[in-house]
Amino acid sequence: CGIVGYVGPQPALQVVVDGLARLEYRGYDSAGIAVLSGGRLRTEKRAGKLANLRAALEAAPPEADGIGIGHTRWATHGAPTDVNAHPHVDGDRRVAVIHNGIIENFAALRVELEERGCKFTSETDTEVAAHLLGEELKDRGDHDLAAAMRGVCRRLEGAFTLVAMEADNPDLVVAARRNSPLVVGRGDGENFLASDVAAFIAHTRDAIELGQDQVVELRPDSVRVTDYDGRPADVREYHVDWDASA
Ligand code: GLU
Repeated sequence: CGIVGYVGPQPALQVVVDGLARLEYRGYDSAGIAVLSGGRLRTEKRAGKLANLRAALEAAPPEADGIGIGHTRWATHGAPTDVNAHPHVDGDRRVAVIHNGIIENFAALRVELEERGCKFTSETDTEVAAHLLGEELKDRGDHDLAAAMRGVCRRLEGAFTLVAMEADNPDLVVAARRNSPLVVGRGDGENFLASDVAAFIAHTRDAIELGQDQVVELRPDSVRVTDYDGRPADVREYHVDWDASA
């Protein structure tokens, strides 16, 4: 339903949770975040309102580095529970993934991944993307998260915005889209991404709309957009000039 991502010098957790609050108007049934905390992925996710997530975070505040992703879920596959809320992680907890939309071929992919030994914890279609990314990174033997994401997207059918971060990539958020919206907000030494500009308009109005079947690599000082084959892609840059203060 709602997606937020951030890389930069600000406290990532706060930027992400504030961004999710800006997307609450769209409706949702659960919320979750992932941040990097001392080189490890820390996720927190709760069914119900953002207040439930905030309470969980306040009870055990993570030491967040300058990178984070957040999601508000509108369940399509699996009940609105804490476990089914996003982010989802791979078996080694090295990659965290959030997703809008529906992965149509998730059942066949899940069987294949279970045969490879992946253990699923949720009932969502999304979790296949987390395991696929983990397996792809292992097969590649590197930490090229964007290349791994391209490989995963080529295998998925349906509608998706996927966002991923990896414990071994402390400055990088990677996202991809097909039939589901994704916008990047360009800042000064920091960058944002979201399903809707409302999530980051308090920080920047310089936006980039991703096209169909594109992958973006977001670092504090750069935004790189490619197609699913890794070729540099044309993007539409624009300035958001409507009044977002209301
Ligand atoms: N299909 C996914 C799920 O049910 C994502 C739903 C969404 O777009 O929020 O978890």
